[in-house]
Amino acid sequence: MNADGTFDMTQQFDVVVVGGGPGGYIAAIRAAQLGLSVACVDAWTVAGGKPSLGGTCLNVGCIPSKALLESSENYERARHQFAEHGVLVDKVTLDLSRMLSRKDRIVGQFTGGVAYLFKKNKVTAFHGVGSFTGPVEGGFALQVTTPQGEAIALAARHVIVATGSVPRPIAVAPVDNTRILDNAGALAMSEVPARLGVIGAGVIGLEMGSVWKRLGSEVTLLEALDEFLPAADSQVAGEALKILTRDQGLDIRLGAKVTRVERKGKQLKVYYSRSDGDGVLEVDKLVVAVGRMPNTAGLNLEAVGVTVDARGFIEVDPNCRTGVAGIWAVGDVVRGPMLAHKAEEEGVAVAEQIAGQHGHVDFNTIPWVIYTAPELAWVGQNEQQLRARNVAYRVGTFPFAANGRARSLGETRGFVKVLADAATDRLLGVHILGPFASELITEAVVAMEFGACSEDLARIVHAHPSLAEVVHEAALAVDGRALNL
Ligand code: NAD
Repeated sequence: MNADGTFDMTQQFDVVVVGGGPGGYIAAIRAAQLGLSVACVDAWTVAGGKPSLGGTCLNVGCIPSKALLESSENYERARHQFAEHGVLVDKVTLDLSRMLSRKDRIVGQFTGGVAYLFKKNKVTAFHGVGSFTGPVEGGFALQVTTPQGEAIALAARHVIVATGSVPRPIAVAPVDNTRILDNAGALAMSEVPARLGVIGAGVIGLEMGSVWKRLGSEVTLLEALDEFLPAADSQVAGEALKILTRDQGLDIRLGAKVTRVERKGKQLKVYYSRSDGDGVLEVDKLVVAVGRMPNTAGLNLEAVGVTVDARGFIEVDPNCRTGVAGIWAVGDVVRGPMLAHKAEEEGVAVAEQIAGQHGHVDFNTIPWVIYTAPELAWVGQNEQQLRARNVAYRVGTFPFAANGRARSLGETRGFVKVLADAATDRLLGVHILGPFASELITEAVVAMEFGACSEDLARIVHAHPSLAEVVHEAALAVDGRALNL
């Protein structure tokens, strides 16, 4: 900044993206593909003060958690499932540090991959915190404050805010990432805690709880709500709860409100209240996974007049336009589900709109996935939503237990449920609890995006033997004509 408060606009771009997570880095790449000059400002810093592009998803979210989910499943399979296949392993031992290094290596490959993609697409990356300094002729001025404290001045015709979200703190359990952990800490424990507590039985709680349970911890989840996974179809959620508690030994206590956490030597005492009385849980580590909040810290949105709603989300229209022409916002920092793939598609749509195209996101067909074992995945509406809206619908379900591929995998738990409009047969929702639900759901997303009916799914040839046949059979079941049950 100059002494008089003005900037030397030496670094000017068509588009500056603030935030290098899935929303931001994808927006930057798409904008560059469309011939725009693009910079991406990202503050994520790892050991040695180095930048690490990719945001929460790549650094401490989707990617490392999936690496640990897979590793821990392999450990569990080797201990409990190989023998059934006639594969006898004498003694299975855990090398946790190797498991964590593998996860870190995968993260490094992907964060480095984003830096490579930026170079390839001629996106200029700035390492530091981006903030607005004000509107200028034809655009906006921003400042990047580097970790070393230097200020870099930028100007852009368009700014895309993609600053993501941060873990929601709770006063009763302040995170220190030593004993009380957030999602980042939960991915990096150097020893398997004998007893692990988790506050919040949502997506992160269940995924992290599953990892550490499989690695040997006694895991107890304290969930404030009385209902398990209220966003999921209640039949699916009910079956998932049974499997996770009965088969996998996760102790999930619903309606448990944490009132106090006491540190006692190396232990944590977690006090909670339930309608049937108070309880106390003694654990060695505690993960707090009670949701995430939009991250607008340091952006100085006031300087340009961008507004946030009562919960702190940047206000945008369905096309991700803020109230200020030329400033856009995508991903976790705006309304809608906090999902990386939703952020990515918003990023693409915004880049295309800036380039004069007509990018848009269909919010009705965003798939959800929870990577427990078995996985949950769904798209569209669930039964309780249809009932609440008085929509007449037909249901078809089919279990994985009746599928040859699932039997050969030894993954027979769960089912597919197809919901179709009673009058038009149009697909209203598809819900899957079962192996590779994350992959299987895509067929349903494509079908719904093309306005398909359950009969369309039922008449499409599905490879045999494959897990996708369960989707096929559930679609047939809508009309009462499943073939293998
Ligand atoms: P979440 O909203 O999925 O779950 C938080 C849970 O904590 C809820 O069930 C809530 O009722 C409960 N809760 C809130 N306050 C509580 C309290 N004081 N005591 C006990 N329970 C309490 O949030 P999350 O698991 O923290 O995940 C954050 C975000 O990250 C989510 O929006 C999620 O969609 C996203 N995410 C997605 C994936 C995926 O797509 N597979 C994986 C991880 C995270």
